Amino acid sequence: MEELCYYEVLEVSKDATTTEIKKAYRKLAIKYHPDKNPGDKEAEERFKLINEAYSVLSDDKKRQIYDMYGKDGLNGQTGGGFSAGGMDDIMDIFNSMFGDSFGFGTGGSRRDSNSMLYELDIEIETTLEFNEAIFGCKKEIDIRYKEPCPDCEGTGAKDKEFITCDYCKGHGQIMMRQGFMTFAQECPQCNGKGKTPKEMCVGCSGTGGVDIDESITIDIPAGVNIGNRLRVPAKGNVDSRGRRGDLYVHFNIKDDEDFVRDGDDIYIEVPVFFTQILLSEEIKIPSLEGELTVKLSPKVKDKEHFIFKNKGVPNVNNPSYRGRFIAQVKIIYPKKLNREQKELLEKLQDSFGIDSKPHKSIFESAFSRIKKWVK
Ligand SMILES: [Zn+2]
Ligand SMILES: [Zn+2]
Repeated sequence: MEELCYYEVLEVSKDATTTEIKKAYRKLAIKYHPDKNPGDKEAEERFKLINEAYSVLSDDKKRQIYDMYGKDGLNGQTGGGFSAGGMDDIMDIFNSMFGDSFGFGTGGSRRDSNSMLYELDIEIETTLEFNEAIFGCKKEIDIRYKEPCPDCEGTGAKDKEFITCDYCKGHGQIMMRQGFMTFAQECPQCNGKGKTPKEMCVGCSGTGGVDIDESITIDIPAGVNIGNRLRVPAKGNVDSRGRRGDLYVHFNIKDDEDFVRDGDDIYIEVPVFFTQILLSEEIKIPSLEGELTVKLSPKVKDKEHFIFKNKGVPNVNNPSYRGRFIAQVKIIYPKKLNREQKELLEKLQDSFGIDSKPHKSIFESAFSRIKKWVK
């Protein structure tokens, strides 16, 4: 394969001006930026090459050497051999040149501040039924996103006419002083653009975007919980180059009448009559997947937990792991007894003989001791 010369790489003529070179580089760097082409090795190589070409052609001295002696002439020059630099170095150059204005790289909001007035990513909240969150589902939701206003092409300015921002005098930055420190801050009036619309666009009231309603179906993973955020790629707002941001969905989850969720664990209160405990009954309780059996016994105390491992909610990040299902016993005693029930209970108590009056046998010696004390 024949190697392209730097001018060919940037798709400019040999007599291109610095401005033309910068423009061409910007266009191509955006097109082949790794963030826009994840996993595409060819795009990454191209991106590196574009940066290499630009680093030379944007520097008058290097460009002169390159024009006269070609690439070889640059080898040995201080900082001439660009290709030695890694991807991080390239990113540094890219970012230092254009800042974060393309929304690439880490941190910062994804807003194309060159032309767009709104963020590309959208955050919404949706409410799920208790079971939808636990088992996952396909959910149809209505969203509203922005597309660039056709009247002003997303600029927010009538006829795309701008005037220099009077607040920052077109610099896009204002200097702030705090104590003896001075630092630059994005101009709040023009959001760093250095210019403001001469007249607001009527079509979008100057917002640059028009609302579009869309119904989409999203896959809710099993085990999703309040506090989770689901990313739905390319369902956000659209910028003037047709690039679409992402949608982030937050969840609100309805309660269930019986089941109480705590992370991946599920609790259920199981009311049992005191006789069921004494008679060691086996009872069926509802769980997330059919019935479970709880075996009661006289040893069971009020509020005691029966724990069923791996019967709770699937973990949203690791579905093979499930939380616990916990049945909490609530012992119910009769509030009232009718005459017959009372007689029956007395009969039952009597049948236990001395065992039915444990306080008597235990306190017998204590009673005789205190008798002597109070004499
Ligand atoms: Zn300004
Ligand atoms: Zn408009």
